[in-house]
Amino acid sequence: MSDTVRVRFAPSPTGFLHVGGLRTALYNFLFARSRGGTFILRIEDTDQTRQVEGAVENLIDTLHWADIDFDEGPGKDGAFGPYVQSQRLEMYREHAERLVAEGNAYYCFCTHERLEKIRRQSRYSGTLKQSPAYDRHCRSLSTDEAMRKKSAGEPYVIRMKVPESGETSFDDVIRERVTIANSILDDQVLIKSDGFPTYHLAVVVDDHLMRISHVIRGEEWLSSTPKHVLLYRSFGWELPVFAHLSLLLNPDKSKLSKRQGDVAVEEYRAKGYLNEALVNFVALLGWNPGDDREIFTMEELVREFSLERVGKSGAVFNVEKLNWLNFQHLRRKPDAEVLQLLNKELTRAGIDPSHFSEQYLLGVISAMRERVTFVRDVLEKSPYFFRPVDHYDPDVVKKRWKPHTPNHVRVLAEEFSKLQSPRKEDYEAALVRVADALSIKPPELIHPLRLAVSGMGAGPGLYDILALLGRDEVLRRIQTAIERLTQS
Ligand code: GLU
Repeated sequence: MSDTVRVRFAPSPTGFLHVGGLRTALYNFLFARSRGGTFILRIEDTDQTRQVEGAVENLIDTLHWADIDFDEGPGKDGAFGPYVQSQRLEMYREHAERLVAEGNAYYCFCTHERLEKIRRQSRYSGTLKQSPAYDRHCRSLSTDEAMRKKSAGEPYVIRMKVPESGETSFDDVIRERVTIANSILDDQVLIKSDGFPTYHLAVVVDDHLMRISHVIRGEEWLSSTPKHVLLYRSFGWELPVFAHLSLLLNPDKSKLSKRQGDVAVEEYRAKGYLNEALVNFVALLGWNPGDDREIFTMEELVREFSLERVGKSGAVFNVEKLNWLNFQHLRRKPDAEVLQLLNKELTRAGIDPSHFSEQYLLGVISAMRERVTFVRDVLEKSPYFFRPVDHYDPDVVKKRWKPHTPNHVRVLAEEFSKLQSPRKEDYEAALVRVADALSIKPPELIHPLRLAVSGMGAGPGLYDILALLGRDEVLRRIQTAIERLTQS
């Protein structure tokens, strides 16, 4: 095998991209990028019963969101498209026929009813788990007999001829040596009666024809690999390097499932996770850099990634860690990018972002970015930056709005109204002056003032809020609070 690294991500388009699929795609992509190799996207759509409309577009869009781009494929207008197995049917058939001609596969004419019957019988006798499900009935058909049935138009499948004894072994970068007894392998169907190949034939033919050097995929395919190895041998082809990634687990160590949370990348995207954070998180599900670093950009991952550092044990999907990474990546994100995201969130919430100047929104971002995990939290935690206060936290009102408060804040408002284009220091100085004049401590003004301008008892620095809102708005809010809170 030459040194050229060629890898592929080969999803079946069954609806959405699972986070486990994202990890497989990412590891392939990182491996290709770190080795100057080629990353291919191949759509494995040979199971026509599982097709979902729009799934391929959705998959490509999701990968693109995650910054995972592929390098090759039959595309249009200079862009690469994925390889699509349903457009390559002739190739699989030719290869299956070659196996038949060389005695490594055979036509099987067994009917559904017959297969059902032997399945029921082996279930009844309890042998289903230990022996192949198919009894190899058609394996002994003579070539003439098979040809006669075929010409008579009897429906058939093509099955591989698995050796009845011996073992099949292969090396796996993550699992080391894997060995399995041939006696437990079924005579796998290669071409189905609808003429489509099964996954097993198509994956081997494609990986060979596409000169795939490393097959990096989920552990759920490990048990199929011996069949693939036998196919490679039948064709006389060299094996790729295999690397089977461990399962993703729920915190209770069960297999990651929808029951315990979201498994679709789309869901995380819709919830407002940053692509950088999800990619960083998924990268750490099974791989580690060998030290305690946890925050990585895609560029850093490309630099650091190696298959040797991918572990064997199942990786626990811990949403708290994902949230923490989102917070970390949000802190590091350039202002201009956060601004774009904030604009989107405002629009989503029915607020027209063009009501606010860019400078104002950047000010809000700088006041809030250390206090939120998601960009959308900015709206939830500080709606007062975008709308007048329409609700005053009753607990804070009870604690901070005393009978004398309206008089105090009235004096404060008067002092503020004398300020010309005040900056935050000017508000602070004015507040201290008023506190002195009223012989009270500054907090006796600070708390009610925060309540008046935000409706809340906590948030970013009060003077930052005042400076952002601007003097006239601050005065309006003080006035409204006096009216609303004094009546109640
Ligand atoms: N089509 C398989 C899937 O849906 C791909 C398995 C492989 O990578 O060989 O995951």
